[in-house]
Amino acid sequence: MTHPSSKELHGQFVMPTYAPGLTLVRGAGVAVWDDAGKEYLDFMAGIAVNNVGHCHPAVVAAIQKQAGVLMHCSNLFHNELQPRLAQKLSDLALGGKVFFCNSGAEANECLFKLARKWGSLDGRFEIITLKNSFHGRTLATMTATGQTKYQKGFEPLMPGFAYAEFNDLGSVRAAITPATAAVLCESVQGEGGVVPATPEFMTGLRALCDEKKILLFFDEVQAGIGRTGKWFGFQNYGIRPDGFSMAKALGGGFPIGAAAVTPELSNVFQPGNHASTFGGTPLACAAALAVLETIENERLLENAVAMGARFMEGAKKLAQQHACIQAVRGVGLMIGVVLTIPAKPVEAKLRENGLLCIATGDRVLRFVPPLVVSPAQVDQALALLDRAL
Ligand SMILES: *Cc1c(COP(=O)(O)O)cnc(C)c1O
Repeated sequence: MTHPSSKELHGQFVMPTYAPGLTLVRGAGVAVWDDAGKEYLDFMAGIAVNNVGHCHPAVVAAIQKQAGVLMHCSNLFHNELQPRLAQKLSDLALGGKVFFCNSGAEANECLFKLARKWGSLDGRFEIITLKNSFHGRTLATMTATGQTKYQKGFEPLMPGFAYAEFNDLGSVRAAITPATAAVLCESVQGEGGVVPATPEFMTGLRALCDEKKILLFFDEVQAGIGRTGKWFGFQNYGIRPDGFSMAKALGGGFPIGAAAVTPELSNVFQPGNHASTFGGTPLACAAALAVLETIENERLLENAVAMGARFMEGAKKLAQQHACIQAVRGVGLMIGVVLTIPAKPVEAKLRENGLLCIATGDRVLRFVPPLVVSPAQVDQALALLDRAL
């Protein structure tokens, strides 16, 4: 009798929320291997998770070491790594305090609760998000997500959310009511097709929120942790939000999420207001500290800028030969190739040829490779794209 394959077992025992294709068994840097031993260039990086590459030795060593010392302890006790990670994140952006959780959705939930607690003093609770955004799959973050396809069948939605057009300041202004507490925005919409915010929109949003005394939050779950060439995407625009969420790449593949706020908002939550059993465990924090150190030590922000430019230039050259490329857009190593044809079959062809990327929307190929990607690997990916098109 032969053993059932992973695919067969998945079909039998895992809820069909995904329809996975390959079975991946190993990863190293920008490469992954499937169960037949075939190698792929991973330009999706676990969907913007493996920013320091698969199984980076520094992250592996940090996890292995901490796993034998103290994996988990309750947040009713101090652990030695959580405040160190909080200090590091605070230094990288807002200079305030941090709350730890385990995912992007939870990090956004933290911002929503914080906005409501802050607004409760004068009866404000509403949160404005942008159309075509993506903020997660919990009830509140699914409601915040400005795409009805994620909400269908799960009504009633959470009260207290309003939507405005992305990159349209007038639309945000029109959505503000006396009950508005905060705006939550992605600096680069990822799931929505890799659409960067315009500089005018970002600076205008900051000024508008100041004028109306509304909190401005960014969802940096996908654009954060160096992907755009800055630690956080909003830093490309020279503005300072009141808070932001992060997750995906923070733990280099180990689950960890966090929300960071300014000093002004650092003590909105008091003991008992919010919590997470697994938030900021020693093991998760060891992984995250190793990720942040690796990004610094290997100058990966610089590499994201250089390799992002190389990929964009190459893709724009391909656009001159392939009429089916309509546009190439993005920031750093968060790049969308917009097609005039459906993206799914191209994604499948690329996979067959050994390049992993993700189709998003109907016509966008999203490339979010590890920040450790080399010039040769960028060129190889472009050659594979050329061939597939
Ligand atoms: C992936 C993503 C989320 C959700 O993160 P989870 O860890 O899956 O909960 C939220 N916001 C953005 C921008 C994302 O890309």
